[in-house]
Amino acid sequence: MIRNDVGNEKLRWILKSGWQGLCPECGKGHMFRSWLQLAKQCDNCGLDYKFASPDDGPAFFSQMIVAFPFTFLILWLEIAYDPPIWVHLVFSIPLMVLGCVLPLRAIKGWLVASQYVNKAQESGTEHLWAKLHAREKREADERRDD
Ligand SMILES: [Zn+2]
Repeated sequence: MIRNDVGNEKLRWILKSGWQGLCPECGKGHMFRSWLQLAKQCDNCGLDYKFASPDDGPAFFSQMIVAFPFTFLILWLEIAYDPPIWVHLVFSIPLMVLGCVLPLRAIKGWLVASQYVNKAQESGTEHLWAKLHAREKREADERRDD
């Protein structure tokens, strides 16, 4: 029961911080520096967003949730009613484009927050990540010293 409550709390936190584009650590700083570009670090607590790699996850989920159902809806509309082409130009295409683009930011926020809260990373890449980030940090430190 306690474990379930913790799971619900985690899910609530992920949904809230992802939806609002807030830092998954402090919930105050901003996760994004533009529409879909992640900030380098949280402007409130300094959380480094290097861990975040949602890759094409947002596009994938947007397609699964929006594009496929819409495609069937549009096909059904075409087959059932054989509407004039302007119906698709005015209704179908804008609905498909907006339906796919608008949820991208929230989905990306949820994926990044989920990755942070669940401490997720690609299996077997811990060494590679540690090496890569140690090298990046060393290079940044050297640049700062110059
Ligand atoms: Zn923060």
